[in-house]
Amino acid sequence: MDGVIRSVGIVGAGQMGNGIAHVCAASGFDVRLSDRDPARIQAALSVIDANLTRQAQKGVIGEYERAEALARIHPADDIEDLGVCDLVIEAATEDEQTKYRIFDALCPVLKPDALLATNTSSISITRLAASTDRPERFIGIHFMNPVPVMHLVELIRGIATDDPTYESAKRFIAKLGKTATMSEDFPAFIVNRILLPMINEAVYTLYEGVGSVESIDTAMKLGANHPMGPLQLADFIGLDTCLSIMQVLYEGLADSKYRPCPLLVKYVEAGWLGRKSKRGFYDYRSGTPVPTR
Ligand code: NAD
Repeated sequence: MDGVIRSVGIVGAGQMGNGIAHVCAASGFDVRLSDRDPARIQAALSVIDANLTRQAQKGVIGEYERAEALARIHPADDIEDLGVCDLVIEAATEDEQTKYRIFDALCPVLKPDALLATNTSSISITRLAASTDRPERFIGIHFMNPVPVMHLVELIRGIATDDPTYESAKRFIAKLGKTATMSEDFPAFIVNRILLPMINEAVYTLYEGVGSVESIDTAMKLGANHPMGPLQLADFIGLDTCLSIMQVLYEGLADSKYRPCPLLVKYVEAGWLGRKSKRGFYDYRSGTPVPTR
């Protein structure tokens, strides 16, 4: 690679993976999208198609751009298909062992000078980087959800990340039309270090009976001028992801103030993971969200 990123591989075609594929393709990058479950890749392509179509209908992009962007996204049924990429972004489930397994399979097929990034919300970039064959070309590129709408991307350097990798990542984010902030490699970085304890506190507020789902969300929307209530936002992020981030904060900072709320644990145990499983603090199965408590 001559320091210029042209093709981007994405591992994990869930809510973040499909959004990252969307913005990369819309900005002219060649995209290879992979997942351990091929059905997730097909589902992601349908979501991207629908989201690009909505953007075209609103006049944000032209019809030609919509078709071109879609044509730039190639399903990668085998991890080997990512070998051609200049940058691979891991956006799989927020579980450290899962990410290690992905890097073990991925590194041998990558070009020696390819950059490797993770979209993790909270896990140590330095630790993930150390498990790979290229810690100096490894970086945290943390997109926000929904990726096509949110302007911020947090860049997180591991202890070994070199300057050319950081500069390439900054240029890549600028080409996506997004704003990068730099965060040090501490648990949950900046946005989630602040946001997730607030969401966890909202779940404690519900757990202790201080308010109902509806009261808590209305209170924060109208009382703090938040565009979305914290429980609605938790459902949007995914309750499994919220719990993982709280566990990383709790263990990483060894402070009881980050203790995940037992009610959050219970929702995850029930498989009520929020919007993606159609039930969380709200039930989405009828089409209109109905509070579950
Ligand atoms: P998700 O559950 O929607 O998708 C995860 C995808 O990873 C699934 O399609 C799953 O099949 C796939 N996967 C799991 N194991 C795999 C493996 N071994 N190989 C290949 N694919 C595998 O989750 P998400 O919300 O898209 O989150 C993905 C990552 O992005 C996590 O690290 C999360 O912390 C981070 N993130 C999430 C948000 C958010 O708001 N949800 C925001 C920023 C960053």
